[in-house]
Amino acid sequence: TTELMWFRRDLRTHDLPALVTAADADRLACVFVLDPHLLDHERVSPARKRYLRQALVDLDNRLGDLGGQLMVVLGDPRHVVPALAKDLEVDAVHVTADHTPFAVARDDAVEKALADDGRTLERHQGVSIAPPGSVRTGSDSVYKVFTPFHRTWTQRDHGEPLTPPAALPRAPDGVGRIDTVAPTEVPQLDVRGPDEAWPDGGEGPARERLDDWLDGPVDDYDDRRDVLGVPGTSRLSPDLHMGCLSAREAWTRLDRRNPGQDTYATELAWRDFYLHVMAEWPDTARGAFREEYRDLPWHDDDDAFEAWAEGQTGFPIVDAAMRQLSTMGWMHNRARMIVASFLCKDLLVDWRRGEAHFMANLVDGDTCSNNGGWQWAAGTGTDAQQFIRIFNPTTQGTRFDPDGVYVRRWVPELADLPNNRLHEPWRLSEEDQEALGVIIGEDYPAPIVDHAEARQRAMDWWSQAT
Ligand code: FAD
Repeated sequence: TTELMWFRRDLRTHDLPALVTAADADRLACVFVLDPHLLDHERVSPARKRYLRQALVDLDNRLGDLGGQLMVVLGDPRHVVPALAKDLEVDAVHVTADHTPFAVARDDAVEKALADDGRTLERHQGVSIAPPGSVRTGSDSVYKVFTPFHRTWTQRDHGEPLTPPAALPRAPDGVGRIDTVAPTEVPQLDVRGPDEAWPDGGEGPARERLDDWLDGPVDDYDDRRDVLGVPGTSRLSPDLHMGCLSAREAWTRLDRRNPGQDTYATELAWRDFYLHVMAEWPDTARGAFREEYRDLPWHDDDDAFEAWAEGQTGFPIVDAAMRQLSTMGWMHNRARMIVASFLCKDLLVDWRRGEAHFMANLVDGDTCSNNGGWQWAAGTGTDAQQFIRIFNPTTQGTRFDPDGVYVRRWVPELADLPNNRLHEPWRLSEEDQEALGVIIGEDYPAPIVDHAEARQRAMDWWSQAT
């Protein structure tokens, strides 16, 4: 047989069922299709484009080591893949199933076009640890609540990770005719990205990061994961999002008798949970999971949104986080929860604006996890938690950044403030402001809301709106 491996967000050779199956063919071509629609889409951040470029180069090298090669083709995959399959006289196209509504619609269209021509699209598992839809309640439905999902998920046998094929079959004769591009020469991928470079993309660097993480730091995950000022989390989210790492492999390598490693396993389960939710209820990509919360009268406050996005709210922990995002293209999980709560509750701005801003900036922007995180924060999602759980930015700051390392790093104009005022600089006396050279309202913004009032306003708004 002649077959085609169509890579998408599975840019790796380890633990990739689609590639292992495709490698049994007599002839095999490997392709990645760069869709101009996505390259120019505002939801695709510069950081993700840069990561993608590096990951494609890395994948081509790895396939090269196995005797293969990656063709990168520009165009709409709905046309490119069937045309390529025809041109190369391919029998079957292998993919790793992706479960966002966009990907499902695209793959359905490709599958139909291939079928019209007598070819097949074979979807394999490989984005999540447990295939979406497979972890089910006793009454055979998908879980809406994480805790019972996790209980069942943990008891499942997720299988062992697969090693890469020893070698790849030779390419079909026609590949020389295919019009390909070098990822390094695609202008849309040649982006500076955020100011602070994120570590290199690709399976090679990602595997080194995973090894380093499992070789010690993961053991302290329980103690350090919520401390904003230390690198206490894995920072593997972009590697997992782009599929340069297999989540299943990461999970299998954990020793869950160790509390840090066990907590880490739970975070990987959250990722699977949100994939399950999106696959089962695709409408959740567009609006609130709970129907009764789809038309809430959010405030269309552009000024407040801009202040939030630019890290100019006057709340140091919120501003530090938003500046970390614009500088690094990444944000700590605790910080994501704080800024999301602030936008939806203190400012009453529609969570979907925050969700879109995250997608436009995050290196790990992921339709499922991002949507799940935002709906969790807004109180519109699967969890039974209440809207009225409103984070107090000052308390969150003093609790999770007690020494002010995080705020001082990202809001340097506050670096000289004493710890007891760092998270509420508006309480500095005029004399102290003068002495420290930080005039609130000039050198650093005065808070754009009074949190206590904003909290009350949010609760009133919620009880009227629902
Ligand atoms: P670690 O703490 O090391 O966690 C390990 C891995 O588990 C992560 O790499 C990630 O793949 C997964 N994970 C951890 N927490 C979650 C979670 N709550 N939900 C789903 N997966 C999780 N994660 C994304 O990958 N992409 C997003 O676009 C995204 N948007 C978010 C938006 C909001 C409002 C919130 C509250 C969370 C969001 N998350 C998102 C989840 C989480 O914040 C990030 O996965 C995490 O901060 C990535 O850093 P890390 O790799 O060091 O995480």
